[in-house]
Amino acid sequence: MKSVSVFDLLEEVHTCPHCKVRLTLCHAPPIHVGDGLGWGSEYLFICLNDECNLFASGWEHIENQYGHVGSYRYMKLPDSDESYNMMVAGKDAFTGSIVDPEQIKASNKRYRKEQEAIARLDTCVAEKNMEPLLYLLLNDHVALDVRKRAVGLLTELNDPACVEPLRNHDFKDTHLEQSVNMAISGILGANFIKECPFCAELVKVRAKICKHCQKELG
Ligand SMILES: [Zn+2]
Ligand SMILES: [Zn+2]
Repeated sequence: MKSVSVFDLLEEVHTCPHCKVRLTLCHAPPIHVGDGLGWGSEYLFICLNDECNLFASGWEHIENQYGHVGSYRYMKLPDSDESYNMMVAGKDAFTGSIVDPEQIKASNKRYRKEQEAIARLDTCVAEKNMEPLLYLLLNDHVALDVRKRAVGLLTELNDPACVEPLRNHDFKDTHLEQSVNMAISGILGANFIKECPFCAELVKVRAKICKHCQKELG
């Protein structure tokens, strides 16, 4: 099956043969209800019209046929002539999976930014460019192996300017947090500086008094 971008799908207009209302693009449920296989598509066009004949008359049919509560929604696979009457347990079965164009755009933008940052990992140390490293480390949606690589490069880059943004980030993964903390210790040590325990500013290891908060350092 050729892959069509979700942006193209959002432009496509398909109508329900039962009610003539435009079908809504939804994220496909993970499992094919009928046979346990995937849909072969991430997206489905579904008739979400509650007045649709198929849906309105389905309740009685399912009650009589199977003795439980449910009805049918008409659905069509993108890029295919296949369509199904899909059994649903209630009115809201698909309202949570409607494709939100704004959300798609945002995640697409995020994905592109992430790819750009990853592409720059090979050269960022030579270029003394911390920006891609911080972007990848401070975004929790980025894959863990990529972020771990970024931590290693951060140590090579050895720029104490990374300390503040990293300290301010709440790392969800404790292993990653540990390696970040180790990288910070390494960078501080290599630059002969430490964090003031009172004001958190960076001061010389040899300093007896913090130049920022004037407190006495042990
Ligand atoms: Zn319909
Ligand atoms: Zn201080």
